[in-house]
Amino acid sequence: MTTATDCLFCRIASGAIPSTRVYESDDIVAFRDIDPKAPTHVLVIPREHIVSLDHLEPRHAELVGRMHLAAANIARDEGLDDGWRAVVNVGEGGGQTVFHLHLHLLGGRSLTWPPG
Ligand code: C5P
Repeated sequence: MTTATDCLFCRIASGAIPSTRVYESDDIVAFRDIDPKAPTHVLVIPREHIVSLDHLEPRHAELVGRMHLAAANIARDEGLDDGWRAVVNVGEGGGQTVFHLHLHLLGGRSLTWPPG
């Protein structure tokens, strides 16, 4: 299991690894995905090392709400007036590859449903 000390996204959140940030606050950082799957592909992460949605505690409820508010504000700033998608992959079977909670904000192209 990845721990906070060797977690890629903890290192991005701290600035130890560079990223293209589009938003940050006391408890949230948002940056452009290094391998974008849409014209806009931003990852919204908590600064706290939370492995996945499966690891949330009741005290995280407001934080998760703020992550979604941040995504909506970023989508507006990016001009995604025609719609966008928020995705959270959970666990290996759910497509998660980085084990630090992150919300994918995808937009700028037509998005099909269901995802694969
Ligand atoms: O949901 P999942 O864990 O698969 O998403 C991880 C995301 O992190 C991928 O979209 C990947 O491109 C992105 N990533 C990144 N910068 C890295 C490593 C991964 O933006 N250095």
